Amino acid sequence: MESGQCTGPSVVLAVDIGGTTVKGSVFVEGVELSPGRTVPTFKGSLGAFDAVLAMVSGLARTARALGHEPTAIGAGTPGLVDTRAGLVCYASNLGWTNLPLGQLLEERVGVPALIDHDARTAARAEMAVRPALQDFVFIPIGTGVSGAVVTAGKTVIGARGQAGELGHVPTMPNGRPCSCGQFGCLEAYASASAVLAGYIAAGGTADSAEEVAALVGTDALADEAWSEAVNALAKGIIMLTATLDPAEIIIGGGLSAAGPVLLDPLREKVGNLLGWRDSPAISTSHAGPRAGLIGAALLGTTVQSSFSHTSQGSP
Ligand SMILES: [Zn+2]
Repeated sequence: MESGQCTGPSVVLAVDIGGTTVKGSVFVEGVELSPGRTVPTFKGSLGAFDAVLAMVSGLARTARALGHEPTAIGAGTPGLVDTRAGLVCYASNLGWTNLPLGQLLEERVGVPALIDHDARTAARAEMAVRPALQDFVFIPIGTGVSGAVVTAGKTVIGARGQAGELGHVPTMPNGRPCSCGQFGCLEAYASASAVLAGYIAAGGTADSAEEVAALVGTDALADEAWSEAVNALAKGIIMLTATLDPAEIIIGGGLSAAGPVLLDPLREKVGNLLGWRDSPAISTSHAGPRAGLIGAALLGTTVQSSFSHTSQGSP
């Protein structure tokens, strides 16, 4: 590896790992080189790690074929992530425990890699779009539910790098089992997969949470599944609001595409539960559905600066 050379353009292989798909793209000096690619996280007998490795290898080939030598990898992943160690401590939806993802990605491509929680990478993109927003919580809702807390312009990492696991806050006593082993977690009601599962368990037929969302207002079973998700999410938001006083709650991820179908009842429910104080604004991501990928690219640009820092002997 040609460490310490920082004179060339930044060529970042950005990867956004999700429970359903892995997205990736090449960014040269912050500009996307070519249309990104999306692959299933799980395919046949292959696991999530196989999909991620294949993605970074493919992105490196794409970059090199177009004459750009990769300089860094930035990756956002769900789960408990120790960014400093490059370690995914636990990701229930991916089946990962103590996976040294950063090191393995570095070894695959031969360039420095930095990983972070996917909610924090998405929040990084949100901050780039709206730099004036200093206090917010970004809540991506997809296969799972997580959160990135930004307060006074700083992303809260936590003592173990594991802050923001909003999805595993129990909100329903003795509720549904969750993939983490607890019962009644927010994620077991409000994730896209939980909305779909709840609708099907009640007797409905649909292939995605987006389909369930489209049926809200015309299908009593869809109304019920949606209402359960909104209630669980509202409980999580009032807890965050009472603790952190954010200016805004930003909903991202696949379920945010529901727009007003999600935001309107959520604002009403949060407003009712927070009758004793003002509610935060509740919006969908301004960085859009690719916030996680854009944030991973931004993360990759910090790899370069941190590595050049290290090569100069700083601790
Ligand atoms: Zn859980």
